[in-house]
Amino acid sequence: MADAKKRIVILGSGFGGTYTARHLRRLTRHRNDVEVTLVSRDNYFLMTPLLFEAGSGVLEPRHAVNPLRPLLKGVRFVKAVVKGLDFEKKVVHTEFSEDENHDIEYDHLVIALGGVTNTSIVPGSDNAMRFKTLADAILLRNHVIELFERADVEPDPKRKQALLTFVIVGAGLVGVELIGELDEFLDHLSESYPHIDREQIRLELIEAGPKILPELEPELGEYAKNVYIKRGINVRVGTPVKEIEPTRIHLPDGTTIDSHTIVVATGVAPNPLLKDIAVEKDKKGRIVTEPTMRVKDRPELWALGDSASIPDPQGKPYPPLAQHAIREARVLAHNILAAIDNQPLKPFVYQSLGTLASLGHFKGVGRVLKFHVKGFVAWWIWRSYYLFQMPRWNRRFRIMIDWTVALLFKNDIVKLELFGISRESELADDTREARKPDA
Ligand SMILES: Cc1cc2nc3c(=O)[nH]c(=O)nc-3n(C[C@H](O)[C@H](O)[C@H](O)COP(=O)(O)OP(=O)(O)OC[C@H]3O[C@@H](n4cnc5c(N)ncnc54)[C@H](O)[C@@H]3O)c2cc1C
Repeated sequence: MADAKKRIVILGSGFGGTYTARHLRRLTRHRNDVEVTLVSRDNYFLMTPLLFEAGSGVLEPRHAVNPLRPLLKGVRFVKAVVKGLDFEKKVVHTEFSEDENHDIEYDHLVIALGGVTNTSIVPGSDNAMRFKTLADAILLRNHVIELFERADVEPDPKRKQALLTFVIVGAGLVGVELIGELDEFLDHLSESYPHIDREQIRLELIEAGPKILPELEPELGEYAKNVYIKRGINVRVGTPVKEIEPTRIHLPDGTTIDSHTIVVATGVAPNPLLKDIAVEKDKKGRIVTEPTMRVKDRPELWALGDSASIPDPQGKPYPPLAQHAIREARVLAHNILAAIDNQPLKPFVYQSLGTLASLGHFKGVGRVLKFHVKGFVAWWIWRSYYLFQMPRWNRRFRIMIDWTVALLFKNDIVKLELFGISRESELADDTREARKPDA
């Protein structure tokens, strides 16, 4: 009977949401008592580790994403922005367009809405760019190319220096990988501009903590730092930025750096939508779940990925990483069906297999199991791993072709004109939400 179906609604099409939907589809192939719906404002899945290359022109930006409809055949997909949740009525309020709203009913709800760049750490972060969504990557790339066009004709040396200074605030995985890829991109870019000397380009990586790449062992962070210093990148540690102005950054010792490109990579804050949800949250504002990813006292509510605080066997929350969200999704899909069938639930237990970071120029660094890997081998493992994490061969082939072309012909340096799209409207909704003063 159609109305006896259990309606599982998943919010968000990132690693958590997309993989949960895929596992549920597989597990319910022979069942007709369950209906799975995925709601997201994007009609694609974004492979965030490939965002760096999408921004630098190595990859065609569309190839860093995967269209959801072919990926999730058998799952109902609704492209809409989630506006609110009503736990009493078991309804998700969504907005299709400004004057078109819809309510979606559920029996089980999975919250996988991810996070936003944390702008609460450094004063003035709203003046900086960020690097989280596909729009952010395209925006940064266009911005950099535009600055080169301006710098190429700029007669004033001081103004030219500010145009050619690139600052990344935050030296965790995202900041470190971003500056490595940016450095490679700027190398290629400068070859096409006769009045820009590579020596005039200044790159700054600024970290408040005592070392870069705190996710890895100190020796590996030190390796990455030395690689960057050799390339001429200025790496500052123990330097909590005092303030960011639109084209100037203030350091604690009174130094200022004039730059037209300041990017904050200062970690993840939860999706602003979670603020209004009446469930237990941790200090960071993430939804606290049981080890099974079920929300306490809400048997019909589940959460995973960057939105969730899922305790490991020692009670410590798992980190907000794709490799965890992918594994969480498998257990969560199993657990929802177990809950529907009145079967016991499994706790999520995962020991990370390692962490890798690309440093650009065919170099990487990281740990795989207990082994430290550096240089070309680390870069190669990093690339191959994420290639195979991208669902569907159709996408993998496109990525491999882009990589081969980039190897032979260098990065694409075309500025994509997004006609009629202002900087603000290019930003993803959660970014705009997060920028509201009360968010
Ligand atoms: C540049 C970058 C590189 C990274 N590299 C790595 C890496 O190499 N390895 C690694 O393990 N992790 C990496 N991460 C972290 C990883 O991307 C996250 O941990 C992972 O994406 C979390 O998955 P998620 O499903 O919780 O959230 P997300 O992947 O962020 O997905 C959230 C989804 O919710 C949707 N959404 C949000 N708000 C709404 C709304 N109101 N209405 C409708 N839909 C909404 C979004 O559009 C998105 O589809 C990286 C992150 C970034 C930013």
